Amino acid sequence: MHGVVTLGAGIAGLSFSYHFNHLTEIYEKEGSWGGHCRSHSTEGFTFDRGIHISFTKDDYVRKLFAASVADQYGEFSPVVYSVFASHWVRHPVETNLKGLPAELVAQCLIDFIRAEQNRDRPAGNYREWLISSFGRTFAERFHSVYSRKYWTVDPEYLTTEWVAQRIYRPTLEEVLRGALSDQFCNVYYIDSFRYPAKGGYQSFLRLMAAEAVIRYGFELVELDLKNKKLIFSNGFQRYYDTLVSSIPLPELIRCIKDLPAEVKEAASRLAHTSVVLVNLGVKKGDLAKCHWFYVYDEDFLPARVHFSSNLSGSNAPPGCTGIQAEIYHSTFKPLKVPAPDVMERAIENLIEIGILAKDDDIILTDYQDLQYANVIYDRNYRKNRELILDFLEKNHIYCIGRYGEWAYLWSDQSLLSGKRVAEKLGGDTF
Ligand SMILES: Cc1cc2nc3c(=O)[nH]c(=O)nc-3n(C[C@H](O)[C@H](O)[C@H](O)COP(=O)(O)OP(=O)(O)OC[C@H]3O[C@@H](n4cnc5c(N)ncnc54)[C@H](O)[C@@H]3O)c2cc1C
Repeated sequence: MHGVVTLGAGIAGLSFSYHFNHLTEIYEKEGSWGGHCRSHSTEGFTFDRGIHISFTKDDYVRKLFAASVADQYGEFSPVVYSVFASHWVRHPVETNLKGLPAELVAQCLIDFIRAEQNRDRPAGNYREWLISSFGRTFAERFHSVYSRKYWTVDPEYLTTEWVAQRIYRPTLEEVLRGALSDQFCNVYYIDSFRYPAKGGYQSFLRLMAAEAVIRYGFELVELDLKNKKLIFSNGFQRYYDTLVSSIPLPELIRCIKDLPAEVKEAASRLAHTSVVLVNLGVKKGDLAKCHWFYVYDEDFLPARVHFSSNLSGSNAPPGCTGIQAEIYHSTFKPLKVPAPDVMERAIENLIEIGILAKDDDIILTDYQDLQYANVIYDRNYRKNRELILDFLEKNHIYCIGRYGEWAYLWSDQSLLSGKRVAEKLGGDTF
């Protein structure tokens, strides 16, 4: 018996192990656990891999996270802004138009009212959905701009299967109230969130990692399906009976020799974005206007910026502010500026919109490039993904997590994905 082997020690792999009574060995290419939920500290500042907050409604996950940090977490109502041409309005803009140029507000309202008639018309793609949900002006001036910045593609390229849990379609009354009054209308999908008091987001995973058997520095490079054998970059070989994989689906497929042509073809069409994270430590304590903000301007490099020190005071030394800017890119939209210049451009952008001043003392600059950020939901996404996952499962390989399942999963959903497979394989009977 070679047992059940797990690939990847992110939240999904750790959750699988935890719910499988740790009767599995995890092979992880990096030197530490956490994957995309990992946090790193440098010179007194702690940064996550892109903003990470827990807004799960799942009671089981909430308790597990809380127990991991011995109930030491902050609970927040999010303060989030949309920035448009130097105007700051509360997010989402659809229900908080007041403060934007009058002509733009009028056009948004006229188009929203016109769109009401088409509201329930089936949409062939994300762009059509935006226009029928919000009207042309909202769609073009805000969502399409953000689509190109975050998804790195035009909205017509995307399907709508991911929108339901993320984008609220306000009523006319909510839009009008937001345009005419100062009363903040919160229809954002995050109404409250938690964040660990210490150690960054990664701390929420502590309990699951505590007894996991993890072998670090083991990067899968070859997978022999016939003999159920794994080969790692350090030359180590390992047989398995069942394989649970949380590593990105295209990476896993790349490791497999002698694949059926249609599986290879489907995998070559899986698309995703990458993200560059610009982390800044500033010696000034009162820079944060909010928890995070979105910028609807394509000349402003980052899509989203957050203040890490506003999530937890322990994320920055006293009197300092931690800032992280996210810049997305992909094969569809390569980085506009050469990688080494991204830092400088992001700082210039933050000065332009008044977050930083020219003479601010930036005492830390740090840069990370994450190869996998978001799965792109294009027209063939569902067909290709299902074909691959089906083929793998027939070969006793179960894929879990955001990049294993190849879906737009938040961390709680990635955790539950690992738990589900543990239960399927008998973990609930231990
Ligand atoms: C920018 C950004 C912001 C996010 N914000 C939030 C948020 O606010 N709240 C929220 O709940 N979720 C958020 N998420 C989603 C969350 O990060 C994911 O759902 C979760 O981290 C996915 O975990 P995972 O275990 O599935 O994958 P991963 O964390 O990617 O784990 C996979 C592991 O496999 C390892 N690996 C890869 N290749 C190999 C190989 N060949 N051999 C061995 N090991 C390998 C990796 O090193 C990694 O440790 C965000 C994601 C991103 C990208």
